[in-house]
Amino acid sequence: MSELFKSVFGVEISQVKEFFSDLSKVDPNNVVPRGRVINVYLVVRAENELLIRHEGGEDISLATIGNEKYPIILYDKFQSVFRRKELELLRSHYDQHKAEVNKIRGKQDDWFCSLRPTAATKKQEERIGGLCGECPDCMTFGFAVREGGNYNVKSRIEGDLLIATTPEQRSVVIRTFNAVDDVTKTTIIGGEEGEGRTGALFRLSLVKEGTLFVGKIAMKDIGLNDFLLKMAALSAISRIGGKTTQFGTIKVYIPAVLFSRYEISSSYDMFTEVKGKENVDEVISLINSRLEKIKKGVLLTSKDFAETIRREMFDNKGNIRSDVVLKAWEEAKNFKDSIEMFIKGGKK
Ligand SMILES: [Zn+2]
Repeated sequence: MSELFKSVFGVEISQVKEFFSDLSKVDPNNVVPRGRVINVYLVVRAENELLIRHEGGEDISLATIGNEKYPIILYDKFQSVFRRKELELLRSHYDQHKAEVNKIRGKQDDWFCSLRPTAATKKQEERIGGLCGECPDCMTFGFAVREGGNYNVKSRIEGDLLIATTPEQRSVVIRTFNAVDDVTKTTIIGGEEGEGRTGALFRLSLVKEGTLFVGKIAMKDIGLNDFLLKMAALSAISRIGGKTTQFGTIKVYIPAVLFSRYEISSSYDMFTEVKGKENVDEVISLINSRLEKIKKGVLLTSKDFAETIRREMFDNKGNIRSDVVLKAWEEAKNFKDSIEMFIKGGKK
């Protein structure tokens, strides 16, 4: 994988090796955090209008910074898109490489893993699916205690909220929609007044296309191949928010990766550097020069690592490189076995 690493990031893996967890073997020491932090900085551009709703509200969430309000995307929302994208990549890879993955898992049953709303999984008959607790997604993003296990795994990937670089007046548009009743061909649908709804008319606050968001993710004590898989998933994210059949197209840019002993900078820190800026190249170059000033560790910057990753890690059909995914499965399995060994006090 060192060639791939070099072609994506432009440096030898030996320069940053100490910031990865060595999950090539089972070792109970692997489960103890050791201050190996990979800071990944993001710029997300709305390529279309976005409907970003958070629990408990119809409208976009805004943060008041200074005397203006800026749209935000909570990290939870971004992470669920991130996980779903990774699971999609893992599933399509599994369909094509079942025997190899099963060999690593040490199991013959079909692997399946999915994020499901809690309400859907409560009913006994709908327990098909849910998080598997063994794949590279579960072992890094975490899962709650489940049947057949007795431990929770906490996420080793944490992030900040994403903040728009331009205030509400420049980044939010309110649109009125009209829902026509297909049977009566009318637009008068009784009830459901309120919530911005009059008859069949309803309003949505949307993030304007072209709006830029800045964000940061910290990956802690993760394996090299798992890291590459995560970067591939991040680079392949293309939608976020509600009603994605018509809204929500985004493009993810990765201007910088900083390998360090601790977390450096934050979404807010980057936001203050790029406040008011609308040009993606300018935002990226400002972030990179800010990080250059405050770095502690090995900083790798680019106009956009995501583009290089899409080129280097996917074939022309959009399949992710199998060698990376198989190694990530091995790392997940070794991490899982390491946890179990750690719990038993280092004995097999
Ligand atoms: Zn899983």
